[in-house]
Amino acid sequence: ILQIKNLSKDFGGLRVLENISFSLDEGSVVGLIGPNGAGKSTLVNLIGGGDQPTRGEIYFGSRRLNGLPAWRIARLGLARTFQITRIFSDLTLDDNVRLAAWTNGWRGKNLETEVARLIALTELSDKTGVLGRDLTLSDQKRLQLARALALKPKLLLLDEVMAGLNPSELDRAIQLLAKLRNEGITMLVIEHLMRVIMSISDRVLVLHQGTLIADGPPAEIVASSQVQEAYLGRRYVK
Ligand code: ATP
Ligand code: MG
Repeated sequence: ILQIKNLSKDFGGLRVLENISFSLDEGSVVGLIGPNGAGKSTLVNLIGGGDQPTRGEIYFGSRRLNGLPAWRIARLGLARTFQITRIFSDLTLDDNVRLAAWTNGWRGKNLETEVARLIALTELSDKTGVLGRDLTLSDQKRLQLARALALKPKLLLLDEVMAGLNPSELDRAIQLLAKLRNEGITMLVIEHLMRVIMSISDRVLVLHQGTLIADGPPAEIVASSQVQEAYLGRRYVK
């Protein structure tokens, strides 16, 4: 469903991504891990059209994404969340979802049905009147997911959507991703916690200093000495 070919990204003189190639199969859940500054968010940003690659190509299905603005890419069925939660703090949770659904073309009675569906799917029904700023981090992250899902995405890019959650919130979030996977949504999941990666991914990509150093099943990745070395002494090795 997604194909990345020889992707590089420079910021000024700094090479942040170096010749990245991989593809995602439809319906798969792929983890993307790597130390801070490895280039994970940059990669997601390039795929989502938030920025343009210096070199290389991105295909979504047979569609070449290079040069397309983010909103066009979103309309093709590629949604993303942001590492820094982007919700409207002065709007209620349901208005936040309503706005996302409206932007995606839903109107009138259908709009309300869709809003209710998204809120139920992300298990936020008891928080509808709560202002964005008064939501817990966990609920803000779920709201972010609800807004991304308003696009009816075929592919969802999740940038640390589980960071900062407590263990029980984490379990709920893992269950939610499992539910989305059952709906057939392909996911690329950036995540630091190995436990989470192990429980949700079919496959794991490892970025290190802008280079893809490993690509394989979770068990193989955890056992890889190269990956161990890249992470030596870091919190990701669990
Ligand atoms: P983290 O785990 O901390 O979120 P990351 O893997 O997402 O890290 P990126 O945010 O992609 O890492 O950053 C990769 C590198 O690119 C970092 O060195 C960062 O400082 C640099 N970088 C990112 N965005 C820009 C930008 N707009 N201009 C210049 N440098 C940037
Ligand atoms: Mg990041």
